[in-house]
Amino acid sequence: MLQKLIRPHILNLKPYSSARDEYKGKEGIFLDANENAIGSATDRLFNRYPDPYQNELKKHLAEFHALREEQIFVGGAGSDECIELIIRLFCEPKEDNILLLPPTYGMYEVSANVNNVPIKTANLKPDFQLDTAKILQTIDSHTKIIFICSPNNPTANLIHRESILEILEKFEGIVVLDEAYIDFADTPSWTTELDRFPNLIVLQTFSKAWGMAGLRLGKTFANPLIVNYLNKIKLPYNVSQIAQETVLEGLKNSKKQQNMVQEILAERQNLLEELGKLPLITHIFPTDANFVLVRTEKPQQVYEDLVKQKIIVRNRSKVSLCEGCLRITIGTRSENAALLEALRSF
Ligand SMILES: *Cc1c(COP(=O)(O)O)cnc(C)c1O
Repeated sequence: MLQKLIRPHILNLKPYSSARDEYKGKEGIFLDANENAIGSATDRLFNRYPDPYQNELKKHLAEFHALREEQIFVGGAGSDECIELIIRLFCEPKEDNILLLPPTYGMYEVSANVNNVPIKTANLKPDFQLDTAKILQTIDSHTKIIFICSPNNPTANLIHRESILEILEKFEGIVVLDEAYIDFADTPSWTTELDRFPNLIVLQTFSKAWGMAGLRLGKTFANPLIVNYLNKIKLPYNVSQIAQETVLEGLKNSKKQQNMVQEILAERQNLLEELGKLPLITHIFPTDANFVLVRTEKPQQVYEDLVKQKIIVRNRSKVSLCEGCLRITIGTRSENAALLEALRSF
């Protein structure tokens, strides 16, 4: 059934075979990849090509997420790379379409546009939950992927479990569940359901809770068949040596990640309480992420006033259903204090 969803020409595609695919041993005199045998221009050595399949990293990821290595794909330009590859794997340009649920993360649309893949939309309801009836009405026989973001960006809320289940059960294409902010939510990941739903793909990232946005590492958890085809269409060495090594270091130090998440959650609670006291803020939406969406009557003026004080938030006031809204990332204690001070004196 999954096989039927993949673009036919990719089923028969012969991927690039790298030097490291043809000889997998670790010891030897390596004269097979046209590397610089002498060294690197830097003190730290990077003269050898990295592991194209990041096996060491995947071993630790599998353990951390209680999954099998064959269920894991790593994107070397963040989960943005995963989004792009997933669209390329399933969607025939101009023929197949994807379904988006606005307001949501902008990269799904950009990647679809780049690949000339048409987009259908079914807006979230005013409470920012899925309109499942609308979704099921909107899809057609060419809809290959539905992107669901939970917790959703920019609205910050988790999507109800039952409605995601309904989509997984009734939609015969691929459901991509983007969990970039899952570590800030009080709920388990959907990775536990991967064996039950072969059409489910879960995306996570090292950019948010792990604090490694600069490394550009995204995680895709999916059925091994999907992972296998993603491996076939990815660029050969998509995750750099330094990214593989450094992220492994972070993974082994997950206590620090947990502590940072706790600190951000405490700051979030404090910020919510203080924002609630400001008449300027007319509504604060519930948040399960490391940011809050707030409504104000003068979003543009507030935004500009903050910029003048070198405090940059995201103006989402022109996004449909987010009229009047600013998206504010949780900062450090003193950054949040500066923000509150600026808002108080607006
Ligand atoms: C930040 C974000 C990502 C991007 O993550 P990268 O791994 O940095 O590319 C993906 N999805 C959502 C919803 C995000 O907000």
